[in-house]
Amino acid sequence: MERTYIKDLKNHIGKEVTIAGWVDIRRDQGKMVFLDLRDMSGKVQAVVLPNHTEALAVAQIIRPEWVVEVNAQVNRRPERNVKLDVSNGDIELEVLNIVVLNEAQTPPMDVTSDGHEIGEETRLKYRYLDLRRPRLQRNMRLRHEVALHIRNFLSKHSFLEIETPLLTKSTPEGSRDYIVPSRIEQGKFYALPQSPQQYKQLLMVAGMERYFQIARCMRDEDTRGDRQPEFTQLDMELSFTTQEDIMKLNEKLLIELVQTLAPEKKIQTIPFPRITYKEAMEKYGNDKPDMREDKNDPNLLAFCWVVDFPFFEKNKAGEWTFTHNPFSAPMPEHYEWLMNKEKIGEILATQYDVALNGYEIGGGSIRNHRPEALIKVLEILGHTEENIRKNFGHMLDAFSYGAPPHGGIAWGLDRLLAILTNEPNIREVIAFPKTGEGRDLMMEAPSEVSAEQLQELGIVVVKSKK
Ligand code: ASP
Repeated sequence: MERTYIKDLKNHIGKEVTIAGWVDIRRDQGKMVFLDLRDMSGKVQAVVLPNHTEALAVAQIIRPEWVVEVNAQVNRRPERNVKLDVSNGDIELEVLNIVVLNEAQTPPMDVTSDGHEIGEETRLKYRYLDLRRPRLQRNMRLRHEVALHIRNFLSKHSFLEIETPLLTKSTPEGSRDYIVPSRIEQGKFYALPQSPQQYKQLLMVAGMERYFQIARCMRDEDTRGDRQPEFTQLDMELSFTTQEDIMKLNEKLLIELVQTLAPEKKIQTIPFPRITYKEAMEKYGNDKPDMREDKNDPNLLAFCWVVDFPFFEKNKAGEWTFTHNPFSAPMPEHYEWLMNKEKIGEILATQYDVALNGYEIGGGSIRNHRPEALIKVLEILGHTEENIRKNFGHMLDAFSYGAPPHGGIAWGLDRLLAILTNEPNIREVIAFPKTGEGRDLMMEAPSEVSAEQLQELGIVVVKSKK
């Protein structure tokens, strides 16, 4: 018989069905056995009555987390047993037959609770079990729905989703790169992308005009709070656009997402308030202000835009560095300052960040599409002519073949999801996250590789003292 999903059982009252899934809870009352059964779509209570002797014999040996296929009659529960607050609380299955598809050892932790009470080491080591808990099932489902909504919205607005390489060359995003050795060219390395920044700009030169990607980004940073070595961005780039256009489009998408997929949330102010970097620093002491009027309300979302960021700041050694993105354009009124390399500390970038409840959840800018402007930025950052050619030659070349004016933005999708699900950290919305030290406890990565692998790559490991 064709399998029925548990969520659809209510459409089969009075009929016989086959369901498949896991034993969630089992209550043996001697003469009869109650089972809560679970599949990806929901839960249902089943009862094995004494007259079904074969099924009862199986029900007496099965244990939680065993995988079963069950034949049953769908019955309406008598009025007094109806539970309106649980899924399928008005029906019950009368089991006719049970086939054990797989047995399970006793799990190392409870997978039916919300899991907050369980140590994270155990949860991450057995993540495939941890993901069975309803809270994480819900988080993964919301993540899927958010991605799907984004794809549909952007497709409707003429965007193309285009994949960009994972094996690439270092991009100057400001973090350390993860590097991958080349076997064919020993001594040379690829870098994993910190973001698709350069590729998406090159796609604008390529005439794609509207690009997006739900992209993985890798940054080899020291443990700092709630970070992951790899995380997901919604990345986009548009040609023939303005700061205003990009902000409006992204605001519309964010509002639509929240209203459709997290309707219990209340957006504090629409349109999102805008604040300059200077005001934010003066008033809130940081550039991602938490504007919530009531910080105790878990369903309040206070989005805001932060604009007018300084382009450059001095590092500890007194050299100029970029605050966000070396490819950004200055504000049009500061273009001449950039070209004359004057008032460097006062040049404002066309940078816009979107903050939510005290977190930066996105940021972007209009870019320098004229090669001479990009060269000036790189010179201010202290690059020599030779260095500029070597590291950015492909960008400058590309911009010399008719680059359209363009700009974009990227969101930190994990953080946004953590806020929408009221989760304390982004690991709760990532299927297979790493620990704060960057370890995958389930796969035991990173790990050593064989002497043969190293030899092929021409690599000798010399451990430096920490
Ligand atoms: N690539 C930038 C980042 O990762 C975002 C952007 O400016 O589009 O922060």
